[in-house]
Parts: sequence; structure tokens; C-alpha cells
Amino acid sequence: MRKNIVAGNWKMNNDLAQTESLLNDLKNQEATSNAEIMVAPTYTNLYQASQALKESKIEVVAQNMHFAENGAYTGEISASMLQSIGVKTVILGHSERREYFNETDELLAKKVDAALAKGMRVIFCFGEELADRKAGNEETVVGNQIKNALFHLGAAAFQNIVLAYEPVWAIGTGETASPEQAQDMHAFIRKTLADKYGNDVADGVSILYGGSVKPANAEEIFSKPDVDGGLIGGASLKAEDFFAIVNAF
Ligand code: PGA
Repeated sequence: MRKNIVAGNWKMNNDLAQTESLLNDLKNQEATSNAEIMVAPTYTNLYQASQALKESKIEVVAQNMHFAENGAYTGEISASMLQSIGVKTVILGHSERREYFNETDELLAKKVDAALAKGMRVIFCFGEELADRKAGNEETVVGNQIKNALFHLGAAAFQNIVLAYEPVWAIGTGETASPEQAQDMHAFIRKTLADKYGNDVADGVSILYGGSVKPANAEEIFSKPDVDGGLIGGASLKAEDFFAIVNAF
């Protein structure tokens, strides 16, 4: 049925030499799990990474893209450009993109459309802030993020969508959602999909958890029935830690 996936989001870390070194370390790791493995380097190191990991089990994915095909968008990268270097999957909607680069649900809907139209796979991120959770609004916020950016799509589109629930209060803070909090939200997300698209679609979509996943907590989080993997920030920058998480499945 749905796949287990562990994706490393390197964010704005690692220059050329550091990327080279991490790629070499990754090549020396052994995967004993059934999870699909992905890493997302910065744009400047994406080609290098996609070449270096061509023969490996690790897929190289992008952290972001623009919705336009090409043209006057200084500083931006299109789906075709990513595809031309062998990148087939893109992360969209990360909370850092939403917060620091003003990415709205409306913009993200356009980016999702552009990626899917090119046949790319999308890892779509969303999650509530601490104030939302304190006010008991986390399900409303998450439900709206999903509806606003994805519910214009037909059911077939979900074959190329992976969801990543990342509570903002747990990203890079060392504070992880408890396995039960993750499971409760993932079950809610799956129900939200089921209500709109039916059980077949909902049961087929992989839902990843992100936010301070580490070797020490991965196994318990991944053991929950609706958690199909993780989007890993800090702990993906060391090959050993990242593979300890991959092998937690
Ligand atoms: P973190 O980041 O693992 O460092 O908390 C997760 C993410 O932002 O994807």
C-alpha cells in the first residue's frame, strides 16, 4: 500500500565541500529498512548531489521551486530546470517558506499545480503554530492548509503527493510532538482526505511527521499506524544519525 519515506531537509546548510563530504558519508551507510530515502540539498549543490547519488537508493529532491515555466523571475528555479538535472520530487510549503518568504496557501496551490503538471512528486508541508495548539485550533488550521492548497485537485493527483505534518513549535526546537500527538493529527489528516476523496485515496497517501525527529525518538514515532515516515532537518546533516532514523523502520 502506501510507502514509508524518510526525507532529509538540509535547508540552507552545507557549502560545496561540506556537501561532498556528507554525500560520501551517505554512500557508506547501509539501509536495512523498507523506507524510501530522500535528501534535499540547497540549489547550488543539487546537481552535484543528483550525480553523486545516481546509483544509490537515495533520491535527491528540491527544497522549493517557482510555479512559472521560465522567464523574468530573478532568483527562482522552475520544475523543468529541476527535472533537467534528474530531480523528480520537490518539497513545497515548508513552514520556513511560509513564514520568511510569505508563501500563502494560494501561492502554494499554484506551485503544487505546476509541479504536478510536469509529472513531479510533491512533498507538501503544513502544520500549526504553538498559539494555534494552545488555543485548541490545530485541527482547524491544518485542515484549512490542506483544503486551501490541495482540495482543488482531482483524486488522481494524490498518487504524486506526499504530506508532511510539521508542527511549527517542534521544528528545530528539540521539542517533538509526542507519538500520540503525531498519530492523532495524522489520523485527522487522513480522515480529512477520506471525507473529500474516499478511503482509497486517503489510505494510499504517505503522511510524514517532521519536527525534531532524532535517532532516539524515530522508532516510537514511526510505530504509529498513520505515521508513514519523517521529514528530518537537523538530524539529516549527519549521515549516521540520518540512517539511524531511516533504519528505525
Ligand atoms: P528539524 O526540522 O528536524 O530540525 O526539527 C524539520 C523540518 O523543518 O523539516
